[in-house]
Amino acid sequence: MAQVTEGFFYNELEGKGLFGLDGDLVIQPEYQRHYIYGDGKKDVAVIESLLKGYPLGLIYFVDTGATKSPHLEVLDGQQRITSVGRFVTGKFAIIDDNGKEQTFSSLPKEDCERITGSELLIYVCTGTEAEIKEWFQTINIAGVPLNNQELRNAIYSGLFVTAAKREFSNSQNALQQKWSHFVKGDPKRQEVLEEALSWVAASKGQSIDGYMAAHRQDKGIGELKAYFSTVIDWINSVFIAPPDKAMRGLDWGRLYEQYHHKSYKTDELDADLQELLLDPAVSDRKGIYEYLLGGKTETRLLNVRIFDAQTKKTAYAQQTTKAKAGEISNCPLCAHGSNANRARIYKANEMEADHVAAWSKGGESTLENCEMLCVPHNRSKGNR
Ligand SMILES: [Zn+2]
Repeated sequence: MAQVTEGFFYNELEGKGLFGLDGDLVIQPEYQRHYIYGDGKKDVAVIESLLKGYPLGLIYFVDTGATKSPHLEVLDGQQRITSVGRFVTGKFAIIDDNGKEQTFSSLPKEDCERITGSELLIYVCTGTEAEIKEWFQTINIAGVPLNNQELRNAIYSGLFVTAAKREFSNSQNALQQKWSHFVKGDPKRQEVLEEALSWVAASKGQSIDGYMAAHRQDKGIGELKAYFSTVIDWINSVFIAPPDKAMRGLDWGRLYEQYHHKSYKTDELDADLQELLLDPAVSDRKGIYEYLLGGKTETRLLNVRIFDAQTKKTAYAQQTTKAKAGEISNCPLCAHGSNANRARIYKANEMEADHVAAWSKGGESTLENCEMLCVPHNRSKGNR
């Protein structure tokens, strides 16, 4: 272990620039995720395992075939090596058996030696870039699995990914706060980058993979950055109130493509928005934004539990006309009965709207799914 962490250097701010083996090992290659063990639990657990003499598990290095140093990259084991490297350079402390905080330098000598002298089982692999990256996907079973975007960053690693991560995956970027109103996810896990890529890629009819492959050798991320800020600026220009949390994680890229050419009266839009956000009948607050952008026609987007007045009026008129012609009750349940109400025509205010397909089972609040029942029949069906 002492060999591996020799010359270890960790830049907290960038979460980057880690080397070992006296400069011959890149601990955090470009395609790897940021260090995520630094939570005072996983990193501490690594040190405790070593103190107890437990093995750290298999570690994989790649021989890059480079003609000059560094020759090796960590393929799997970055989090474990970084934890040890940070500990031996005094970046965090552990609690010993007596409940005392111990840094590396305050540990008894034999404990230090147990850490630095621990043996690691390391496989060094060689192969083509494609082979190594495919293998990386296969062996990535221990620890926190890589997510899709982390894998894509590995597969399409290069200048474009480096620049894109600098912008979108840096939690210190002051813009993250502004973006987080609309974009869900952890920048360090590449989820903000993934969203930004998905928007620009979709605007060109491409997949994220397709877009990354096409731009892999680009030196900058001009188009990605410009498109993303255009979408964010558009949201802020259309919805003028401070962002509601229902805005977070919507597919803003698609909404922008679909609606940015339309003009909106932002004051009216805001008044409608505030009303709908407070409306208890609106079950899907996230649907409000597209409902408003689309001109308030797609009520299904709101997943509204109650029928609007116009729907009830129309359903009442249709049922009553039919009932009168057939000389039966306009309440379909009364019409099937054999009592005095069999042919009774109820007034509109004596009836209530019922979902034919139950709302709880996905039935929508549309005219097609609306049936007017007399009040006693509707109430006897219970709340559905
Ligand atoms: Zn009835």
